[in-house]
Amino acid sequence: MMGCRKPNPVVFLDRDGVLAVEKSYVRSREDLEIFPYAGECVKTIHEKGYLAIVVTNQSGVARGYFTEAQLQEMNRYLMQETGVDAVYYCPHHEKGVVRKYACQCQCRKPAAGMIWQACRDFDIDMADIGNSYMVGDRASDIQLGQNAGLTTVLLESGYGTQRLEQQITPSHICMDLADFTRNILIQG
Ligand SMILES: [Zn+2]
Repeated sequence: MMGCRKPNPVVFLDRDGVLAVEKSYVRSREDLEIFPYAGECVKTIHEKGYLAIVVTNQSGVARGYFTEAQLQEMNRYLMQETGVDAVYYCPHHEKGVVRKYACQCQCRKPAAGMIWQACRDFDIDMADIGNSYMVGDRASDIQLGQNAGLTTVLLESGYGTQRLEQQITPSHICMDLADFTRNILIQG
């Protein structure tokens, strides 16, 4: 019968500090240093019945550090190397120098615009959103997750929890993405 397919829950993932090494300047695909365990973790996420969707702030586009086309090339590389289902990005920044992207928007984390867009695109059941996760290494990731009603996971593999911009209370704290898939996703 049509219409009985159960929509997948999602593991939303930040990019830098989660799937790839957190660096100040990731401007091209060559700078994108993907963690060796990332592909295996995405495989586990899929095996457990979740989609793996990246949501990433990339204000470097607005700041003129790299172009949106270069970012899209990085995204294709990330998808190919890790197997994630989609990459959503916010290229904006209020103080950007590239006029097209210099604006206040609904997608820059901790705003939840990228989550809502992904939910529409992938037909995700919003009533069930608490079964989905937001995994990140920054306070803005956790705030985003809480804004959207997701279960939140803070990773220490990025800037580390001592460098958080704000006091936050995530649902879980894990060492890195492998720790999350091993100890939260598989156990849970
Ligand atoms: Zn934006």
